[in-house]
This record gives sequence, structure tokens and C-alpha cells, in this order.
Amino acid sequence: MATKTTLIRGFKSKAERIALDYRQKLGVHACAPLCAFKVAKYLSIPVYNATEFITDEFELQKLEGKVCEEYGWSALTMLTKAGNRIIIHNNFHTAARQQSNIMHEIAHIICEHEIKARPEGIVLPLGMRDFDRNQEDEAIYLGATMQLSRPCLLWAKKTKMTNAEIARHYNASMEMVNFRISSTGVNKQFQKAV
Ligand SMILES: [Zn+2]
Repeated sequence: MATKTTLIRGFKSKAERIALDYRQKLGVHACAPLCAFKVAKYLSIPVYNATEFITDEFELQKLEGKVCEEYGWSALTMLTKAGNRIIIHNNFHTAARQQSNIMHEIAHIICEHEIKARPEGIVLPLGMRDFDRNQEDEAIYLGATMQLSRPCLLWAKKTKMTNAEIARHYNASMEMVNFRISSTGVNKQFQKAV
């Protein structure tokens, strides 16, 4: 995660409002898990497994992270020739990481970040970075907030869930749980409330 953020003032509360808004739109309780695949479906964005496009054995091994760490490629948003947005994601990742990978791409779309590259046909630009630093920071923060919003964390703390239980319940990685707990200051807030 970025150490020095470029987020503008007010973005964090905007992210919380969006996380709540999408739960309402999908009929999900404010404190309940929000599935990234369902949000993509709601937004009419098709999500494809990268393995649907890759057949080359070496490319598959890279996708699996067997070749080297830096190919731990996660997901990307693309415009098709017809101008439709699609998400292609690394389906070798754990279910929890797939959630955050896809939520990250959805966050770019919700923020209306412009996709700079418009590849011809379907070519996977592994490791390619489409967005600038500020847009990356926004997508990181919004994607994480949609997955684990403040009401979710407060509810989980109230029910005395451990971080591992929170991770399991919300289909999130432990890194994500730790990131959200520290970036929201939810522990301090909860201690004050009890
Ligand atoms: Zn991104």
C-alpha cells in the first residue's frame, strides 16, 4: 500500500458514502459483505478469467506467480473494440484477493478514471500500469473501503471478531483487514464507544 497518499481532502468520507450506496443498491445490509462479482454484474461490467485468454504455458506460469514475484499480476480494466468496459482478472489468486482485485478495478470505473491505453483486440499487458498515481491511490482506497467499510469494521469489533474472523467473514485478505483497521482508526473509535 502507498506510504504517502495523494488523496484529496474528503475522499475518504466519499469512499464510505459510495460503499454504503452500493450496499443499498444491491440490497445488502450496511454491515454485510459486498461481493465484487455482484457489483460488477450490477454495473453491467463483464468479468473474465485471465486463463480464458492465455493458453501459452509460460504465460500461465507467470500468471500463477511461478516465474517471479513481480508477475503477481491481479486485474485490469479494458475497453473492447466496441467501446465496452470489461475486467480481466487473475483467477489463480485466492478468493479473498480476487475480491480486492476486482473491487479495485470497479473503483477505477466508479471514479470515472480514464483508461489511457486502448489495446487492439484482447492482449493482456501483464504488469502494465494504466493509471496515474493519484488515480491509483483513489482506487486502492475506494476498493478497500467498498470491501470493508467503516460500518462493517465497527460491527465486527462490536461482535468481538478477531482479525482472522473478519477476513473470513468478509472474504478479505489479512493484509486488507489490517490496512482498513489502521487507516480508519476504527479500534480507537470503538474503544471510545464502549
Ligand atoms: Zn489500479
